[in-house]
Formats: sequence, C-alpha cells, structure tokens
Amino acid sequence: MNGAQTPSPRDEAAVPPSLGTGPRDAQAAPAVHDDPWEMALRQFRVAADRTTLTPAVRDVLEHPEREFTVNFPVAMDDGSTRVYTGYRVLHSTALGPTKGGLRFSPQVWINEVRALGMWMTWKCALAHLPYGGAKGGVACDPGALSVPELERLTRRFATELRPMIGARIDIPAPDVGTNSQVMAWFMDTYSMHEGYSVPSVVTGKPLTIGGSAGRQDATGRGVMIAAREAARMRGVPFAGARVVVQGFGNVGATAAVLMAAEGCRIVGVSDAFGGLYNSRGLDLDALRRHVAATRRVEGFAGGEAVTNAELLELPCDFLVPAAIEGQITARNAARVNAQIVVEGANGPTTPDADAILEERGILVVPDILANAGGVVVSYFEWVQDLQAYFWSEAEINAHLTRIMVDGVARVASVAAVERVSLRTAALLVAVRRVAAALEQRGIYP
Ligand code: NAD
Repeated sequence: MNGAQTPSPRDEAAVPPSLGTGPRDAQAAPAVHDDPWEMALRQFRVAADRTTLTPAVRDVLEHPEREFTVNFPVAMDDGSTRVYTGYRVLHSTALGPTKGGLRFSPQVWINEVRALGMWMTWKCALAHLPYGGAKGGVACDPGALSVPELERLTRRFATELRPMIGARIDIPAPDVGTNSQVMAWFMDTYSMHEGYSVPSVVTGKPLTIGGSAGRQDATGRGVMIAAREAARMRGVPFAGARVVVQGFGNVGATAAVLMAAEGCRIVGVSDAFGGLYNSRGLDLDALRRHVAATRRVEGFAGGEAVTNAELLELPCDFLVPAAIEGQITARNAARVNAQIVVEGANGPTTPDADAILEERGILVVPDILANAGGVVVSYFEWVQDLQAYFWSEAEINAHLTRIMVDGVARVASVAAVERVSLRTAALLVAVRRVAAALEQRGIYP
C-alpha cells in the first residue's frame, strides 16, 4: 500500500501561540516533554512487532484516516476579533463511527490530537465498543475566556466541524477544558443546523438533554475500579493505600473521591498551578469547596505546597496521573515512589519511562484500560439517545464495573501468557481486533 507520509514531528510554526493566561506559575506546571504522536507510534510498533499484521494493515494504522484543521474567528467581549485554530482527527473507522473527546487548552496541537485519536481507537477496541477513535480540540485558554466568549467559540467550532461529525459518523465528548455545558452548546448548534434535535451527536451532555446517569463520574469510577483490581493482582491492601493524584479535574477529583470512599488515603493532589501533600490524608470535601471557590488547589490550608514535579515523586502506593500526557518521562521515572501507576490521563507515561518503571517493578495500568470508563458510559449514552430509552444509574454502574473488571482480567492474562507489560498486552488485544476488522473489510475499491 502506498501510504501518505507519517505526520512529521512537531513543526514549531504549526504550534499556535498560547492564548490567554494559562497557568500563572509556569514553573509549577510541567511541560509536555515528548511528542505525543511519536509516543503513540512507538507504543503501537512495540505491539505490532509482536503480532502478525500485514504491511498494509500496519501502514493503514500508522496514519490517521482524516484530519481537519479549522481557523475561525470569534467575536470577543471587548469588540475585538480573535482567530482560533481547532482540529479534529479521525484515526480509524474500522470498527464503526469514531468517538473521542474535545480538548480546549493552550497546549492543543496537531500531533497531540493525532496521538489522542489513535489511543481512542485502541481504547474503544479494547472495551469491545463498536467505535473507531478520534479526538479534537481548540488551542485556547478556556479559563481566560468569559462564558459568552466560550459559548461563541464552541458554537463556531461546532459549525466548522459540522460536515465531518454526526451520530453515525463521529461523536465528540468532553475532555480537558470542556464539560457538559460545552457539550450542550455543541449539541444545540448541530441541532439548529439540522433543524431538529440530535442528542446522539455528542456524549457527556447534561441529563436534561439526553445525557446519561453516571457519565460525569464514569472515567474516575473506572480508574478507581482499575486501581482496585490492580491492588488485588499485586496483593496491595486497597483500604489504607496512599494515593497521589495529578490533575484535580473531572477524572482526578472523581477518582480521588471514589478511592477515598473505598478507604484509600489521598495524600497528594495537584492541578496546573501546583500541588498539595498531607501524609495523613487530605480532607477532600474541604478541598473541593476550596477549589470551587478559588478554581485551584493552591492555597488550601490542609496540606503543604508541592510542585507538580515533586508531587510525581511523593511516596505512595498508587500514583494516578490524571492531567495531561508526557508527565512521567525518562527524567523522573527513576524517582517515582509508587507501587502502582494507574493512568487516568491519556499518555502520561512515555515509552522510555515505561521501560524504567517496568525495570523497577512498578506496575503500570495503562490509559487505554484504566481510563476507559468515560468512553464506555459515553457509549451507553449514545445507545440510550438512539433508542430514546434511559437506564438507571445503578444499571449503568453495574455494566461499567463488569466491563472494567473483565478488561483488567483479560489484559492481565494476556500479559502473563505473552510475558509483556499490561500496556503492551492491552495494545495487543486492541490492535488485533482492529486489524481483524480491517482485514475482513478489505481495501476499497
Ligand atoms: P479537566 O479539564 O477536567 O481536568 C484537568 C486537570 O488537570 C485540571 O485540574 C488541570 O488544572 C490539570 N492540569 C492541566 N494541565 C496540567 C499540567 N501541565 N500539570 C498538572 N496538572 C495539569 O480534564 P479531565 O477531563 O479530567 O481530563 C484529564 C485527563 O484524563 C486527560 O488526559 C484526558 O484526556 C483524560 N481522560 C478524560 C476523560 C473524560 O471523560 N473527561 C476520559 C478519558 C481520559
């Protein structure tokens, strides 16, 4: 097969300038060190080398199927106009319509979106969902935008993406910097263009407009379940386990609260501005009130201030990176002081760091397994919207728990049989499923 060029490593000219303020203390927020697309390709190739893929299938999977870049103006509150750059990358449609989040962050760039799209392909395949993978985002600082500016940006981005998305084509969801309100604006904009309501075009919506019970907590709940299963595998007592969580947003805060409800002690948390440590355990209710009031963990009286770099090296049983990619790297992996890393974020551990952690006997529960709860319940939401029939939260959580527990067991057994890490085992299962679909569908025309 004559494939297109593999997208090139980061082209500085393609990196949009940081918009808005971003983290106030840039020193405290670790940079993304490695090119995520290079990371995703390296991970894929490790799995691909261990399985029988035809050169054509391998070539297809190393290239995202479709990539859109849109530059669009937004009217700002002060009367000025600002042009924003947004992306949507559909990595693979082999297993069905594509699914994946929308990220609003100053760090969004094309190779990040490509990597996140590829990881979505593997995540959906691993969880046996009838979806391919996609991802999108806008390079912007949502914290620096007013609510009306954010709404105008979202509605214009939804309009730009309209020809490429749809309930049977590509179904976005929330990710870093977006939430159920953004999904509501997105769904409303798409519906206005269609002339009728299309709830199934996005997931992660508010309950009032076709959202699913349990979706808000689903990723964090899945992370908790994956951590509990990993603890069982490793013989680490879950009750009383010390947990450090990087990123106190949707995924990290929910995982922290649900792990605390299982008896874990949350000794460290952080956000983009810095972190906190308390060896006796942080009071999460008080911390959440503080974050609701100040929009950051910094300044909370119940813990001592640490930087994000220090946080990743705190002594703990579970380290849960739940912020962004490229946080555990060759530079700090030798100092990670945890028994088990459970990846709430996508791509937080680089391949070089993976090797160091494995060598040190630290178990890594990989992103495509550990944080699959979000897309699993997004799938439930989509099914409910298409059927216009809604399930109870207890039903949702029971199905989610079963899928997560089965997923961890399946990946652990492949890892044991093939004598590979959980990441490579998870990728092997996923890549084989996608490859089988590609082989059976054949190449058109
Ligand atoms: P969010 O925007 O709700 O929260 C992100 C958190 O990370 C915030 O506390 C933010 O301050 C912090 N953060 C951002 N940059 C940081 C940095 N450089 N250093 C330290 N902290 C930083 O986002 P989210 O939805 O919780 O997503 C977090 C991660 O989980 C992302 O990798 C995302 O792709 C992944 N994920 C999310 C979902 C979902 O359902 N939302 C599903 C699967 C995976």
